Amino acid sequence: MKKTGRVVVASLIALLMVLGGIVGGVAYYRHAAQPVVHERVARVRTKANSSTSRQASSQPKPRKNVVQAAVTSDRIPLSKWQKQSTPVQLPILMYHDIGQGNTLMMPADQLKNQLTWLKQAGYYELTPAEAYTVLSENKVPQAKIVWITFDDGYRSMYTTGLPMFKATNSRVTINEISGSVGSNWNLTAEMIKTMQQNNVDFASHTVSHLELNKLPNARQQMELTNSRQTLAQITGTAPNTIAYPVGRYNAATLQYAKAAGYQMGLTTTPGLAAASQGMYALYRVRVNPGQTQAGFLNLVQHGY
Ligand SMILES: [Zn+2]
Repeated sequence: MKKTGRVVVASLIALLMVLGGIVGGVAYYRHAAQPVVHERVARVRTKANSSTSRQASSQPKPRKNVVQAAVTSDRIPLSKWQKQSTPVQLPILMYHDIGQGNTLMMPADQLKNQLTWLKQAGYYELTPAEAYTVLSENKVPQAKIVWITFDDGYRSMYTTGLPMFKATNSRVTINEISGSVGSNWNLTAEMIKTMQQNNVDFASHTVSHLELNKLPNARQQMELTNSRQTLAQITGTAPNTIAYPVGRYNAATLQYAKAAGYQMGLTTTPGLAAASQGMYALYRVRVNPGQTQAGFLNLVQHGY
């Protein structure tokens, strides 16, 4: 805030204190405190916009978790989540590329249908942080929940996926191979940043996409640790999840994943995820092309 601004504000406070007494002063404080919150939110939403006001830029810089709170404003607040009496079973959907050619590629029209069906059926799509809360605290924001993940970080996530996710208001997580960022088939760092600003979450899929159970321990550690650091540098947020390439892992992987700072590890073992599987060995639900609406919703509900 400019000096003259401070003088004006100080004068106003003094004037109000004199005219309205203590009550008036408190009322002013309450009123004045509000815009700061709005500015913080606005500043995050228009991060790329250089016309951010001088006043806003003089506010304390938002911490990382404040940024997170602002871009996740469509979230159901934790205070409204319900503790469950039986262990939660969470469908973690597994997709790869968008397009046509093989079972790892989901045609765009089919993916759009599936995302729409989830909405119509009343599913709430979790962020990685929310998924961790679900599994670690056995709490849910509502009855129907799902976590949508895409492995590998294909370029199609940006060209076809992002517009679709925005159009359907879908919340998805991309498991990114940090060593492939910027290659011709993968996302660039700028694309990742843009997607993150549009409510797409990122998790790690290691540095090199090698099968972890076949690697020497030191290499495993490097794959888990370095990918998390690289993604943190790009997105500003260290991912809380590692998806093992080809779903392969061994006992050492589970230890190293935890030591690297992850809270969850995703496999390709088919089924609904549950805390009883171990937080570093969670099952996922593979979605193949050619689903009917009934078949797809059945798959999400039961995991097979
Ligand atoms: Zn993969």
